[in-house]
Amino acid sequence: MSAPIVRSLSDLRGMVSRWKQSGETVGVVPTMGALHQGHLSLVRAAKEGCDRVVVTIFINPKQFNNPEDYENYPRTEEDDARKLGPLDVDAVYVPDGPTMYPDGFATNVSVGGLTNVLCGAHRPGHFDGVATVVSKLFLQTQADRAYFGEKDFQQLQVVTRLAADLDIPIEVVGCPTIREEDGLAMSSRNLLLSDRARVWAPELNAAMEELAEGLLAGGDAVELRAQAVGRIERAGFTEVEYLDLRACDTLEELTSPTRPARLLAAAWLAGVRLIDNIAVG
Ligand code: AMP
Repeated sequence: MSAPIVRSLSDLRGMVSRWKQSGETVGVVPTMGALHQGHLSLVRAAKEGCDRVVVTIFINPKQFNNPEDYENYPRTEEDDARKLGPLDVDAVYVPDGPTMYPDGFATNVSVGGLTNVLCGAHRPGHFDGVATVVSKLFLQTQADRAYFGEKDFQQLQVVTRLAADLDIPIEVVGCPTIREEDGLAMSSRNLLLSDRARVWAPELNAAMEELAEGLLAGGDAVELRAQAVGRIERAGFTEVEYLDLRACDTLEELTSPTRPARLLAAAWLAGVRLIDNIAVG
């Protein structure tokens, strides 16, 4: 059976207020659909941590800096509802554009600092779009906990910051990245890869793992990074946008993993932008 779909904000509010009146906790899992096992792992974590779970599906135009990327983004609502059926979620909230951004909508939520680097530097406006829609989803669902994937590590830091800064009474829970057997991080964008590109895609993660090992062994960071970029490009990637070692909490750049560190990368493969990150140490 498919999961129950809720399209209007007033219906969502009615459900949530009934749950809250009975003292139940609410978890939210924000997504843009095209659900895969990575998303479903967040739903399972939410089911474990909360009495009620709302999955949201909204392909947020404000976070796409490229209109073509927005047009091409996979839209698979029926499949998504079917995949969520066995997980027994309480609602799948699928608002339309005017519900989220009615005429006259004029507010922008912008998180400073963390968003100046990595994806923020390469996708102008992206994190403002994310912060704005996530703020709305937090307020619309009134959830006690929100579940986000470490797959989008910078996004996880940004939404944690915004909830704290805006005093939104919600706990942001980070969940580990789910991967295909060959190491490729699951992503809705993987659906856009050709069969050939899909074969090359795991080299991104493999090169990152090799680089992390080299850094932990005390190797020369500049040399190791150049080797990793070479390996990624030889695999058929056309551009490595960034491949950085950064502090987990502040995202400042590090030359060696002297404190909790993360290796983060974005690279283009056959017209598809893939991102990944792994812990170092
Ligand atoms: P998206 O639909 O791509 O906006 O992702 C919705 C949520 O799922 C975000 O919190 C992502 O970080 C998370 N997510 C996406 N891919 C994965 C993955 N492979 N493993 C864990 N979480 C993921």
